[in-house]
Amino acid sequence: MASLFSKLAALLCDGTTGTGDYGDNDPVYPNTQTIEEAIQKSEDKFSTYWPRNIIILFGPPGSGKGTVAPNIEELLSTPQLSTGDMLRAAVAQKTEVGLKAQEVMKAGGLVSDEIVVGIIRDRIREDDCKLGFILDGFPRTLEQAQALDKVLAGEGDRVTKVVALTVPDEVLEERICGRWIHKSTGRSYHVKFAPPKSMAMDDSGKPTPESMKDDETGEALMQRPDDTSEALVKRLEGYHKETVPILEHYQPEGVVKKVNANVKPTLVWEEVRNALKR
Ligand code: AMP
Repeated sequence: MASLFSKLAALLCDGTTGTGDYGDNDPVYPNTQTIEEAIQKSEDKFSTYWPRNIIILFGPPGSGKGTVAPNIEELLSTPQLSTGDMLRAAVAQKTEVGLKAQEVMKAGGLVSDEIVVGIIRDRIREDDCKLGFILDGFPRTLEQAQALDKVLAGEGDRVTKVVALTVPDEVLEERICGRWIHKSTGRSYHVKFAPPKSMAMDDSGKPTPESMKDDETGEALMQRPDDTSEALVKRLEGYHKETVPILEHYQPEGVVKKVNANVKPTLVWEEVRNALKR
């Protein structure tokens, strides 16, 4: 984990090891301790005594969760856990879960609660989640939210913030259907709002698929199979019916913060950062 602690240590020590660089009077670490040991000690202290940041990044498809999440990762040194990404990886690897999920995902439906809760339960026990994690695309049903609460309660934890990005439905279709993605990095482009440098148009004014290349690597971009108007109708229906009630579930806990995500990305981030403050 490119953690806050390693960054701090690097700033404080300018890359020195603390093993005697200042002789017996080393001002930062005793000369028996390396930077790595000192970092580990601070991380252990934080993860033992500070509440974890357990954040649900909430919002309809196309609301910008995937854009905001890396900024929160950077700010809080906690990983983004996207069930959509994990399921797409399972589909690509043709695992048992992937084979079960593939068709329902393509049609814009929801994968079973059992599968996604199982994936998240295992993932949040991994070491990089010690200081917290950002859930992107999970929970999507009230049952998933209740299952999450139960898993967390078992470890003396709870959801500490629900950041709900709001965007009117009519704006989402243009956002979703113009989206192109660089598969290996998740970098996202849009034919109108953020076109790749290589984009070229055909005679009818539509971008040619072979011209859609990642700015940094030059590799081909792809469109998600569920980023179509037909699948979006189903995804939005599921969102309003199954997912929105989750906000009411967390409202009494005082952790829900709504953010207007129908504005420039820099303004969205400013509001999200404020929403994250305790
Ligand atoms: P996303 O990338 O979050 O839009 O997710 C893509 C697709 O993966 C969704 O349309 C669902 O089919 C499936 N999926 C992702 N997360 C969940 C979840 N928490 N519950 C059920 N299905 C999910």
